[in-house]
Amino acid sequence: MHYFSTNGLAPLASFATAAATGQAPDGGLYFPESLPQHTWLQRSEWRGWTAAELALHVMQPYVGQSMPLQQLQAICADTVNFPFPLVPISPGIQSLELFHGPTLAFKDVGARFMSRCLAWYNRGSQQRITVLVATSGDTGGAVAHGFSGVEGVEVIILYPEGKVSPVQELQLTTCGPNVHALRMAGSFDDCQAIVKQAFTDAQLQQRYQLSSANSINVARWLPQQLYYFIAMQQWPPDAAPPVVVVPSGNFGNICAAMLARRTGLPLGHFVAACNANDTIPHYLASGTLREQTAVATLSNAMDVARPSNFVRILQLMQHQHAQLLDWLSAYSISDATTSETIARVYRQHGYLLDPHAAVGYAAAELYLQKHPADTAIVLETAHPVKFPEVVAAATGQPVPLPASVQHLFALPSQATPLPATYDAFLQWMLER
Ligand SMILES: *Cc1c(COP(=O)(O)O)cnc(C)c1O
Repeated sequence: MHYFSTNGLAPLASFATAAATGQAPDGGLYFPESLPQHTWLQRSEWRGWTAAELALHVMQPYVGQSMPLQQLQAICADTVNFPFPLVPISPGIQSLELFHGPTLAFKDVGARFMSRCLAWYNRGSQQRITVLVATSGDTGGAVAHGFSGVEGVEVIILYPEGKVSPVQELQLTTCGPNVHALRMAGSFDDCQAIVKQAFTDAQLQQRYQLSSANSINVARWLPQQLYYFIAMQQWPPDAAPPVVVVPSGNFGNICAAMLARRTGLPLGHFVAACNANDTIPHYLASGTLREQTAVATLSNAMDVARPSNFVRILQLMQHQHAQLLDWLSAYSISDATTSETIARVYRQHGYLLDPHAAVGYAAAELYLQKHPADTAIVLETAHPVKFPEVVAAATGQPVPLPASVQHLFALPSQATPLPATYDAFLQWMLER
């Protein structure tokens, strides 16, 4: 399998090259040259496969010859080694819980797959890879944890002091010896600016083999399809295909869902659930993609003004606007509705949504009002305990700590405090 750049000006790349470089050299995103057709979906055995077996069948065509089958098998088994249950919330709406991974976030799947691929492709190299990440709390934890204990790779993670929740901070600071947490006395934007500058710093490039572990990387994007295949194993074979509602920011996850349908998985209509950052809802309604700047919301992992993966969706739809509208709807949900939805769903159904899934649930309700015969799956992309203030303010009750994170409180937590300036960061990097 080869990958072309959506900008059309870069040479074709193998999966290994695309995974190692992230973005194509012409600034585009890598996209598979031909899409597999999963003919095994037409028989029924796949419903009984383990998640690891299913993952291997889905991923093998994309990874191709760049890795021995046995290696890919081991990586797949490591990637989906936690449950992905489909849980009914209310009549017509089910939650696909993607928060049972090590950092309670759906990004665990992509991060685990990518980290193990990079480690394999870099095997035998003298120089180890140094992954630099800035995080506002949710995203970086999955990346840091994905690489934790992976040989030949170290992670340096910058997070803003006092601006991440207690569970998030523990997830960032208890990962083990190859993950270094820097607690920066500044904002997330400061952290991100420092990481950006590091990638253009010749002095650092000389000493380190820097990698961004960017969310557009094919090795993070493609394994996200697995949620949908695993969900459909739990869906009654003779029921109508579900409407799939995805809380969306960069649109990588929903694009993976659409790819899964394109390659044979029987999914229904897609609903992109956005917060006040409504670039795509506006585009679908008007046909124009307007320049916007991100606004801060309660569902902050989706505060994205220019969703980078949308170009992959256009590619998947072969730039046919009518087909795009046939497959995809999008809604913008306000913070007020997000809080109201958390409170109401908890009160009426006893189900605790996180702010991102609350955006999804509200969007599902809007879609189902117009299509009452349909059934929707809403992706629960993070555990509510990662956003305890927002959720507790909505329900009036503290968020109970899940058993799976209680052990974090017993682990030694380590972070290096630094001023949020590039000079302080550079000096630390050069002296360590
Ligand atoms: C990253 C993230 C999203 C958005 O996913 P995209 O693939 O960027 O659209 C939604 N919810 C949570 C909790 C996230 O961390």
